Amino acid sequence: MTRISPPGICPGYTVTKSTRFCPTEEYFRYRSEFNKRAYEHIPRTFPIHLDLELTNYCNLKCPYCFRQKSTFNEIKKGYMDFKIFKTAIDEGINNGVMAIKLNWRGEATLHPHILNFIGHAKSAGILDIMLNTNGQFSKEFCKQLIEAGVTDISFSIDAFSPETFGKVRVGGDYKTVVNNVLYVRNTIKKERMKRLPNLRATFVLNEHNKDEKDMFFEYWKQRVNIVAINKCHDNSDKDYGIGKRQKKEGFVCPHIFNRLLVTWDGTILPCCGDLYKTMKRGTIGKDTLYDAYNSTFMQRLRKAFISHNYDRFNTCASCVQSYERE
Ligand code: SF4
Repeated sequence: MTRISPPGICPGYTVTKSTRFCPTEEYFRYRSEFNKRAYEHIPRTFPIHLDLELTNYCNLKCPYCFRQKSTFNEIKKGYMDFKIFKTAIDEGINNGVMAIKLNWRGEATLHPHILNFIGHAKSAGILDIMLNTNGQFSKEFCKQLIEAGVTDISFSIDAFSPETFGKVRVGGDYKTVVNNVLYVRNTIKKERMKRLPNLRATFVLNEHNKDEKDMFFEYWKQRVNIVAINKCHDNSDKDYGIGKRQKKEGFVCPHIFNRLLVTWDGTILPCCGDLYKTMKRGTIGKDTLYDAYNSTFMQRLRKAFISHNYDRFNTCASCVQSYERE
């Protein structure tokens, strides 16, 4: 089986270690198609992936997160209704969606019905159910998430010591998240005698944790499928990132060629870079994902990237995806 790139990696990420992860031929075909659309810029007529924001509430206060921007406080918060989720999943399944991710601007595990939502997506036939989480929950709940159908779980850790963790994942408990990662690795994956879920540990490199990056990598590379060291961008009001920030040369955003995003209140957006919903394409229940994906706006946006002329889209011009750090 050919090696393929790992799932859920955003353009701003640096993947430092990735084991071969390809549980089935069907999974291989889906990842190949996902990558083909993103990097050969072939949108087809429907996204292969949907980001579904179960909630934009969070239980931590990481200083470098966009949630700490003063403007984010003014955004309305809430939890996705099952009707919105089901409508998006039903249209998606009928049009070839293979993957979903359950989070965007918040911590999805805070949604009181997340297990039912995952169960519905699984029984509807979604192949890859991804969850990025801060891991602040019990082992029992961790097991329930996997049993419900999560196939890809990414734990945001950002530290190698409890002291640093206290500075970067404010409000969280270091042992809780580490124990959950080890529990998935040592117990759940072994009990299930299979490779799922794909297990990832992530580290957002910033001025608080820079001295722990190498220790983090050395420790986790033996224990998870993917260790991702992500460069911090100026997401909060203060820039905590390391290194000079500059525009990516020749950047073509991959997101607009293979996915759409639905917020907790049903707003349809082109991508996860549009934090303030400036490029709204419709509302679930009133508009279809198909029309949003094939709208004139989306076609203009794709053309603008391909011709390297996307700066006239203000959200894209200032989006962290279009920047890199030396
Ligand atoms: S805002 Fe623009 S650059 Fe950022 S993810 Fe969305 S489409 Fe891509």
